[in-house]
Amino acid sequence: ILLSIDGVKEVTDYYRGAGVYDKVLKAARYLRSINVKADLIARMSVSEHTKLYRDVVHLLSLDIFDHVHWQLDVIWSDRWVDFDSWLEKSYLPDLKKLVNLWATKLREGIVLGIAPFLGIVKAMFFEDLPAPPCGSGVEAFAINTDGTILACPIAVDVKWAKIGNIKDTSLKNLKSLFKIGEPCSSCNIFKYCGGRCLYAYYERLWGEGGFRKICRATKYLVSLIEELRDEIASLIDKGKVDIEKLDYPKFLNTIEIIP
Ligand code: SF4
Repeated sequence: ILLSIDGVKEVTDYYRGAGVYDKVLKAARYLRSINVKADLIARMSVSEHTKLYRDVVHLLSLDIFDHVHWQLDVIWSDRWVDFDSWLEKSYLPDLKKLVNLWATKLREGIVLGIAPFLGIVKAMFFEDLPAPPCGSGVEAFAINTDGTILACPIAVDVKWAKIGNIKDTSLKNLKSLFKIGEPCSSCNIFKYCGGRCLYAYYERLWGEGGFRKICRATKYLVSLIEELRDEIASLIDKGKVDIEKLDYPKFLNTIEIIP
């Protein structure tokens, strides 16, 4: 179960409307109170007012969500004032801080449920991720209320993503319609990134330059987890971390993995 919440109250309510933060937490607490058997995921949209470290740590500290995941608001948003400065001065340093926190906890045998880190670790140690990692258009499809099948749940405005109708389209006809090609297929982190996002890959609404800026963030994140590879392997070997908790997601739950 993915609940949309962007971090602290002021950020969530700024982007989603007054009172949303409280309503989402009320829903999450209700789900906990009925012992729902599900992976409860806080699903953040990350934008200019986000402070990644503060907001992820806040959501983890609530002790309600099993996992926290975020996606950068970088596909079509024109609300950014200065994306470049935010990336360099806020997002990338916070990513490093967050990876350091995650690694420190891991050494203590605690696996913080930070979904992007775990997804990369999964591709590193357990099994390949689909490309794109959410499986959109290759293993995951969305169905509109009129039965239209979409390659990707956010791609409601483009013809290429409408690929059939549940009344007359067989699943086997959908499987090989999309393939992430260049520049991703020859990128040295394709194994982890998989082209990141089907919609962004096809539409490139921020142009080629914008696309590459997000690659910079992705490559930096992967490099931070790569630096931990030997240590993670050793912690697994010595049984210091619960391997079950590192193997996430257990099944394709359509989180994007790569923010
Ligand atoms: S980092 Fe960029 S070029 Fe590399 S796979 Fe991801 S989206 Fe494609």
